Amino acid sequence: MDQQLTLALSKGRIFEETMPLLQAAGITVTEDSETSRKLILPTNDPNVRVIIVRASDVPTYVQYGAADFGVAGKDVLLEHGGEGLYQPIDLNIAKCRMSVAVQAGFDYASAVRHGARLRVATKYVQCAREHFAAKGVHVDLIKLYGSMELAPLVGLSDAIVDLVSTGSTLRANNLIEVEHIMEISSRLVVNQAALKLKRERLQPILAAFEQASKRKA
Ligand code: ATP
Ligand code: MG
Repeated sequence: MDQQLTLALSKGRIFEETMPLLQAAGITVTEDSETSRKLILPTNDPNVRVIIVRASDVPTYVQYGAADFGVAGKDVLLEHGGEGLYQPIDLNIAKCRMSVAVQAGFDYASAVRHGARLRVATKYVQCAREHFAAKGVHVDLIKLYGSMELAPLVGLSDAIVDLVSTGSTLRANNLIEVEHIMEISSRLVVNQAALKLKRERLQPILAAFEQASKRKA
């Protein structure tokens, strides 16, 4: 059995916030993901490598075993569905919230009350569908891949479902947060077969991640 471990990470905040957790497991990435164009990064441990993938592709790489483990936001995992993934640890990193926002001046409360169909643009169609279904609000969902904030400003939608941390992007675009759907943080996900077959190599890393992330809770 190949005892090489492959960890899937996305660039940016997840990569940055995972580095201290890897450190706690004695692993350092020996190349800078922001400046390197390489998609496979070595570490100080010859048996551990990091692959750089799109945030929403992390569950797919882990599900198929192309990566043994990975770090993905709860948002991404809910949209993916989580099949084939073991999710042992909330890492308490990349924290934000999923919210409904509308243009300042749009009367969201009465739009919802009067049962009109609401047009909602979002990257998170599964989460949005469930949220509005639970409230009994009829929505037309419009799938976007980014820059959700633009949609209400140009009349594509009445509302958006997006991730918010400080709220400054919303404010800069004259949008108001009107509903809080859920708290989001990133989780460790592990391929189910790898968990059994590479347990000896994975276990100490998982334990170190768990210890280090508890301190952030
Ligand atoms: P891409 O940029 O490739 O389209 P993305 O926007 O989902 O994908 P990132 O911006 O790197 O990728 O976000 C990765 C994860 O970090 C998200 O899935 C989410 O869990 C979390 N995240 C996103 N936005 C914020 C935010 N404003 N504050 C904190 N965490 C966030
Ligand atoms: Mg992004």
